[in-house]
Amino acid sequence: MDKFRNKFIAFMDGRNGPDRLYKAFVAVFTVLAVINLFAHSLILGVLSWALFIWTMFRCFSKNVYKRGLENRAYLQLEEKAVKKFGMTKTMLTDKEHCYKKCSRCKAYLRLPKRSGTHTAVCPKCGEKITVKIR
Ligand SMILES: [Zn+2]
Repeated sequence: MDKFRNKFIAFMDGRNGPDRLYKAFVAVFTVLAVINLFAHSLILGVLSWALFIWTMFRCFSKNVYKRGLENRAYLQLEEKAVKKFGMTKTMLTDKEHCYKKCSRCKAYLRLPKRSGTHTAVCPKCGEKITVKIR
């Protein structure tokens, strides 16, 4: 068993190996494969297997620099999605404030929930925003 393990370690030396993008691709592949168990779609099957082959190619690729760039791009995308989801969750659970998007810089302004028409100043860009709160 140790012999096999050592051979595998030697094989993986200098290769990309599993990273976050690999894990995301495996998750997407699994979901697509499970859906295709019921859907029996040729397109979905081809897509999921193409994704699986690409995932394995990335894992065993020796071009670590290029795979690192792909992984970094994915991590940035993931971070944006998590930030957006986190903001949405906060907006849904916070009953004492309302959230408005600045028309100039797209930053979210957290305002106290007082009914009426108010003027708010964006702390990021200084834009004056007229806000109607019901
Ligand atoms: Zn602004």
